Amino acid sequence: MNFTSTRGNTPSTAIDEALVAGLAPDGGLYVPESVPLLQLQPGATLADTAHAALASYFEDSSLHGSLAAICEHAYSFAAPLRPMSGEGDYLLELFHGPTAAFKDYAARFLAESLSRLRDDGAAPTTILVATSGDTGAAVAAAFHRRPGFEVVILYPEGRVSPRQAHGLECWGDNVRTYRVAGSFDDCQRLAKQALSDESLRQSMSLSSANSISLGRLLPQVGYYAHAALTYHAQHGQALNFIVPTGNLGNACAAFLARRMGVPVGDLVLASNANDVLPRYFAGEDYAPQTTRATLANAMDVGAPSNFERLRHWHDSDMELRAAMRAQAVYDSTITATIRDAPQRHGVVPCPHTATGLHVLEGIRTQGDRRPWAVVSTAHPAKFESIVEPLVGHAVEPPPELARTLSWPASAESLAVDYAALRERLLRR
Ligand SMILES: *Cc1c(COP(=O)(O)O)cnc(C)c1O
Repeated sequence: MNFTSTRGNTPSTAIDEALVAGLAPDGGLYVPESVPLLQLQPGATLADTAHAALASYFEDSSLHGSLAAICEHAYSFAAPLRPMSGEGDYLLELFHGPTAAFKDYAARFLAESLSRLRDDGAAPTTILVATSGDTGAAVAAAFHRRPGFEVVILYPEGRVSPRQAHGLECWGDNVRTYRVAGSFDDCQRLAKQALSDESLRQSMSLSSANSISLGRLLPQVGYYAHAALTYHAQHGQALNFIVPTGNLGNACAAFLARRMGVPVGDLVLASNANDVLPRYFAGEDYAPQTTRATLANAMDVGAPSNFERLRHWHDSDMELRAAMRAQAVYDSTITATIRDAPQRHGVVPCPHTATGLHVLEGIRTQGDRRPWAVVSTAHPAKFESIVEPLVGHAVEPPPELARTLSWPASAESLAVDYAALRERLLRR
């Protein structure tokens, strides 16, 4: 299977090249030339299900023979579908990885794939990531001490939770972290400027690992396939999903899983005050906005990159609007939802998961009795400064997160100044 660009001006490309390139040369996003319809069997492990779901995308890849091992590595921790207190209400817990957010699965898949695609003896590759909080930690954890790779993280100072900041700063070795005196948009602009700086790229091998990369998108299909197939085998029904959404990577994977024949029912996107998707799905034109800071900071995206993929997969706005819907959940509602969740649902959610829980509450109020899973994108202990005062008790970090929290942390401050970033990138 080959890959083309959403913008249509890139020749058909093999997956290995698309994985290494990240963005297509015409500025678009790589998409498979066709979406395979698969007959996946329930009963397999998460890693084996992911392998079966991804195999046809990798049939011509040099990674084909090692895909099972790559999946074993990326999916080495569970993604349980946990029943909540309401009938037919589930939480799909994707936070059992090293940095307690769903991005661990795809970051580990990408790191393992890129390691195997590297020529021995090639100059080290620097992975440059701008992060609103979770991507940077997942990428750092996945590439930490990986031979041939360095990681440079840019994050907006003061806009992440204390534990998120620690998770960005605690790695050392081949990971360098910069606290940027600006917003996430500023970080992203700096990273994009470096990635398109031809003279810089002649002096060093620079790459990105953001959520538009195929190596981040495709592996996310694995946990939807596993959860929906398992549910369907036990209950004979499709499972419907609510996906807390920012850049639309995770939700795109849920959509792709459904296109591939996985028994995924309805899809609802939960957004925060960055409501560009809810506005679009309600019938307005697609209109990117400047980012607004919210309590669900990993969803603070004003121009969701993966929207381009969704548009590519549908012939018209009408068809896309029929495929899913979206709802905005504002900070005051996030707060109330976290506060009431232990009693109402029997769980303590992170602020992102809370947007999804609120959407579920609306669906139940309307009388919908079908099974729904809210995708729990991060562990609440990562957002302790928001969650603990609302639920009135300490939220213990899971063991993997607790381990890195005991490590020392350090970062360097950086102004929003491309020359300063460039100089630091070249310093090593
Ligand atoms: C990244 C992230 C999201 C948003 O995911 P997208 O793939 O960008 O839509 C939601 N919640 C958490 C905790 C995240 O880290």
